[in-house]
Amino acid sequence: MKAAVYENFQGKIQVMDVPIPKPMSHGVLLKIKATGMCLSDWHGWIGHDPDIILPHVPGHELAGEIVETGKDVINFKVGDRVTVPFVGGCGSCYQCHSGNHQVCDNQSQPGFTHWGSFAEYMILNHADLNLVKLPDEINDETASILGCRFITSFRAVVEQGNLKGGEFVAVHGCGGVGLSAIMIAHASGAQVIAVDINDDALELAENLGAVITINSLRSLDVVDEVKEFTKGGAHLSIDALGHQQTCFNSIANLRKRGKHIQVGLMTGDDKHPSIPMDQVIAEELEILGSHGMQAFKYGEMLKMIQSGKLRPELLIERTISLDQSVDLLPKMDQFKNSGVTIINSF
Ligand SMILES: [Zn+2]
Ligand SMILES: [Zn+2]
Repeated sequence: MKAAVYENFQGKIQVMDVPIPKPMSHGVLLKIKATGMCLSDWHGWIGHDPDIILPHVPGHELAGEIVETGKDVINFKVGDRVTVPFVGGCGSCYQCHSGNHQVCDNQSQPGFTHWGSFAEYMILNHADLNLVKLPDEINDETASILGCRFITSFRAVVEQGNLKGGEFVAVHGCGGVGLSAIMIAHASGAQVIAVDINDDALELAENLGAVITINSLRSLDVVDEVKEFTKGGAHLSIDALGHQQTCFNSIANLRKRGKHIQVGLMTGDDKHPSIPMDQVIAEELEILGSHGMQAFKYGEMLKMIQSGKLRPELLIERTISLDQSVDLLPKMDQFKNSGVTIINSF
């Protein structure tokens, strides 16, 4: 099969002919139909992920068709169209037993702990636990962008954020994650304030339902602006970027007893940011994370997509081939655009 392979971190990525992998007894072999390109794939290629064993195939946001099942798989069959969350549970640890596969102690992450979806075929483990059947109305391209940024934002807004209609939500950072959060919060009846440094991204945010946008490069004080507009602060605020400043602002712009959700990954120098803990205590703020979403929780989100309440396809900026992706991946940190790039020809 064809796959995009790198043999060294920060080395050349090449489309090569490699053997088709064999699924485990609890797993499946998928023919990949579409896969999203995500900054996490770039982090993996740079060498930021200790789980990656070289040579490696990236890719963790995908939709595909089952072409082979392991003997222990009960709920899925050859021909099923499926997708997966980027974190796969093991089914046997404490977290999985409590229904929290998204923080499984022995998690598998396609494109990190094993070869991913920048290939014609890939395997997935513990299929009965981790796979999600796709309704006919949701096409492969749309489905392929759900498994990482979109589900993490959905869980942030709906589950962790427990958002109520009419509440104010501030979203800091309007890339794929932030725009997803804006769309989901808007569909849930909230009033969204979008913050970014890029006017094009803010325009997209407005199109997706933000009631007000703030360009943080031009703003004298983002926190003051949010507090003024919301008459006291946001009920829910999301750092969708993963940066010391956006994390700080997202906590500082909350109203009393408000909730901050960290969605943007904190890496490198931003790993341990300083936060206004004095405010967290005095105003009883809550700070939570969101790390993907369990497969069994997809139902509500898929229904909202089927009914047109959520339209993740609006986040797709372009579709490319596997051959084109190998030149793009090393440059992903320089992407100026906010939309998502999908590989849909292999
Ligand atoms: Zn991703
Ligand atoms: Zn587990």
